[in-house]
Amino acid sequence: MSGEPKKAKRKLGRQTSKGLKGKTGKGKSTKAIRKRPAAKAAHELKTAASQVKTEEHQLHLSMVKALPDQVEAGAEMKLQLRIVCSEGCELKGRSLAIMAGEAALLDKIELYKYGETANYTSKFSLQAPFAPGKYAWTVVLSPSEQDPLHAECLMPFTLHVKPHVTSIAVWDVASPIEVDSSFKIKAGVHCLAGCSLGGQKVEVYDQDGIKVAVGNLSTSPYSDQVKLYWVDLELKAPAIASNYNWQVRFHEPSLDLPHEGTSCTFGFATVKPADCELAVKVINKETGAPIKQAEVTLHPNLYHGITDDNGVAKIALAGGEYKLTIFASEKAPSGIKYTFKGNLSGRPFTTDGRESMFYVPDANTETMMPFQTAVKVEGDTAISVELVGVIVPLIKDTM
Ligand SMILES: [Zn+2]
Ligand SMILES: [Zn+2]
Repeated sequence: MSGEPKKAKRKLGRQTSKGLKGKTGKGKSTKAIRKRPAAKAAHELKTAASQVKTEEHQLHLSMVKALPDQVEAGAEMKLQLRIVCSEGCELKGRSLAIMAGEAALLDKIELYKYGETANYTSKFSLQAPFAPGKYAWTVVLSPSEQDPLHAECLMPFTLHVKPHVTSIAVWDVASPIEVDSSFKIKAGVHCLAGCSLGGQKVEVYDQDGIKVAVGNLSTSPYSDQVKLYWVDLELKAPAIASNYNWQVRFHEPSLDLPHEGTSCTFGFATVKPADCELAVKVINKETGAPIKQAEVTLHPNLYHGITDDNGVAKIALAGGEYKLTIFASEKAPSGIKYTFKGNLSGRPFTTDGRESMFYVPDANTETMMPFQTAVKVEGDTAISVELVGVIVPLIKDTM
């Protein structure tokens, strides 16, 4: 990189001295010089020669690794600086400084290594300012009387300091929730730079943007690995049965280092008090055996149940009209010969214990759609559903 200008400059130097020699020797130099008396020419020769000697070398300062576009407030930045002389000089012993205007943030950063025509400082740390914003700083090689060939060299650079980014999560939200009842959620906040957020405030806002709860984050994090500070929030469900979206907000906290606020929305459904019971029994149509661990869901309020050893899920709910969905699956035992009816129609397979068995209505063995039906619940209601198992080949078998 520095090869070109270096060559050019050396050439220039040689030409200059050739020209001066020519004046006293073969007379190839300009007429103006030839006309002058010999003594004056000799003096000029001396001056010109010392000028060549003291002509400052061009210096180029740079960072070995460029700074990122933005750095977080207070972050420790690892820097290494490099300076290259157009003549390839070694500048060991000279040192650099980083200045913010007139103030030195760091000085005496020594150039300790020379290699491949460049001089390097060792890697050093520089702390980013706490206040977010744009900072114009300068790397400076101060002039040295002992080294007139290498004068002052400056490299301005800009630092963009941003607040720490935080993230928030909400979990353990039960749904549906009985109208007017109290319920709990958990919320946790995490600083991506790993700061302690213990004791900081989080707030909950309802569907109308009204603040309904405030809590303080735990003083210690969720775990050493997960620097998440969390809080249990006690809330009161609205009086009207419906679906709601509420928001948990973490405002910019009062910490030494600036942090961005963050928020997160969570949804839940409220329902009238349960006055009915729906019992759903799920049976294997081919064997008559109960299907355990089947998930029973009722929309729109997301009532939820799982079948027991007898294949029965009992759900307490408010009377009304619902859409009932049953989703059941299990691992298929190995050694069963089967023909898949789906998009691999007709191909014979034998299970090896890794296939899944999905339970669907008899009519859905091609589409694999789970069982769905509309139910009207007016009092205690019992439903029995017969499903058939369809073995689904492993993806790798279909390749
Ligand atoms: Zn030099
Ligand atoms: Zn932080």
